[in-house]
Amino acid sequence: MRNSHDVGAAASTAGSEELRARHAQVMPAWLTLYYDEPIELVRGEGTRVWDSAGREYLDFFAGILTTISGHAVPELTQVLHGQADRLNHTSSAYLIRPMIELAERMAELAPIDPPVKAFFTPSGSEAIDAALLFVTTLRQSNEVVALRNSYHGRSFAAMSITGQRGWSASSLSPFQVSYTPEPYCFRCPFGLKYPSCDVACAEDLRNVLETTTSGRPAALIAEPIQGVGGIVTPPPEYFKIVKSILDDFEVPLISDEVQTGFGRTGDSFWGIEGYGVRPDAIVVAKGLGNGLAIGGVVAKAELVDSLRANHISTFGGSPLTSSYAAANVDFIVDNDLQGNARRIGRLLWDGLKPLEERTAIVGELRGKGLMLGIELVDPADGRTPNAAAAATVMERARERGLLIGKGGRYGNVLRVTPPLTVSEDDAGRAIEILTAVIGEQQ
Ligand code: PMP
Repeated sequence: MRNSHDVGAAASTAGSEELRARHAQVMPAWLTLYYDEPIELVRGEGTRVWDSAGREYLDFFAGILTTISGHAVPELTQVLHGQADRLNHTSSAYLIRPMIELAERMAELAPIDPPVKAFFTPSGSEAIDAALLFVTTLRQSNEVVALRNSYHGRSFAAMSITGQRGWSASSLSPFQVSYTPEPYCFRCPFGLKYPSCDVACAEDLRNVLETTTSGRPAALIAEPIQGVGGIVTPPPEYFKIVKSILDDFEVPLISDEVQTGFGRTGDSFWGIEGYGVRPDAIVVAKGLGNGLAIGGVVAKAELVDSLRANHISTFGGSPLTSSYAAANVDFIVDNDLQGNARRIGRLLWDGLKPLEERTAIVGELRGKGLMLGIELVDPADGRTPNAAAAATVMERARERGLLIGKGGRYGNVLRVTPPLTVSEDDAGRAIEILTAVIGEQQ
């Protein structure tokens, strides 16, 4: 039999080496894989996954912060099976009850002044596109302000507001984009130190607006914590200052909550709420579907309703994905996964923080809740990005049964982002493994 779907999901007999060779033959050259010997994950349960050789891992990357409630959660798979047995797809030409219910739920939860509406898509990138379409249409402006070191997705529009050359495969842009400095204290773009810097990176937005825009751009878009950029976590005042400058110019704020949403940052349900600011729109994906392909824009109704042409997403908010996403959002809220992110996030923080002092290779631990980053540096100067060490730590952690991620524009930031259902024991084990493998790099 040729295809694994013929023989059942976990029954692949092909070794991962053979699969890797086939990957090289038919998949794009730039679709890079983690690890010297890439692994094929074939099964998951809660915070654990298994590869095709039967090895078990603690999953502390969660499919790039996506399986937020964990793998194969019985309450959720039950909803999925039930809906799959009834009806997968109808299109938005018909009333879709679960999509409407999901939109109502999102409108309730969003940190946005009502009335609020939602539009669903099959990915984060498309949701970003939709948000940008709404603001540029309402404001009749093609100017967008984004942050340096940002990541917003793979479409032309999303790439054009992505502030990292490593993730911008094309310079083509539907927008006139201005970049404002990133709030990256460890590598301050102005060479200053917080707090004596007076948050100059936030204040510089006024200059960006005055000197590089017409003064009336469509919006500013920002991730509350830059994920792909290396868990770059702004100082507490950052977004308040940004918002007050935006208010002076009457510019809307879009919060890209694709990574920071649904309680991941622990202290608040939305990343931007942790900064005491209310945006005009949020973009969601990843955790919303716990692995199913769904994203969305949740925004002030006037933004969503601004289009004067027909517009659809064939798959966006299908019965299958929206019923599952709605169940997943209920699961997150009912089980207070945000509270767990706060509690276990604190344990991880306390367990990993001593590495900053103890090991010269750790430049900084940063992040919030269960969105943590460990920036690795050259021990000789405590600053030069150490991508080689990050790659080695990833390998060694995997050998000991822990999967983590990597990011940062120099590829030197470890990303520790487990499902929000992670237990104290899981956290303890991850601390033990990371302490050992980082310690070995001295
Ligand atoms: N925004 C952010 C902050 C992201 O991290 C990502 C994905 N890494 C996206 C948007 C794009 O989402 P997708 O990959 O689902 O298109």
